[in-house]
Amino acid sequence: MCDTMDTLADDIAQHPLARLHWEQLMSQRPMSKKLQLPSVCPSMEAKKIFEEERFAEGSKKYAYKYKYHCTQCGSDWEVVHDYYLNEDTEAQVEGFRTYRAVAGV
Ligand SMILES: [Zn+2]
Repeated sequence: MCDTMDTLADDIAQHPLARLHWEQLMSQRPMSKKLQLPSVCPSMEAKKIFEEERFAEGSKKYAYKYKYHCTQCGSDWEVVHDYYLNEDTEAQVEGFRTYRAVAGV
């Protein structure tokens, strides 16, 4: 799984790990903006780095960063979903980034 994911662009929402995280967030009951561990993927151990609401309380712009540890090859992945303020237009830009922080064997 990890070798395949390495060949993908790191800034797409469709990245398998970004999707795994997002879909788990969206399907958990009761609904929560915080991921309920463990991950639904049995070979990935998820660990929270942060979960925060951006800009102001009540903005509903939830940012998160999680570490995923692959128990099969030992790789560490980081899944980031965040919002950035474009200072020229004051638009809130949504961004995804998923990348391998530590390569396994
Ligand atoms: Zn792996």
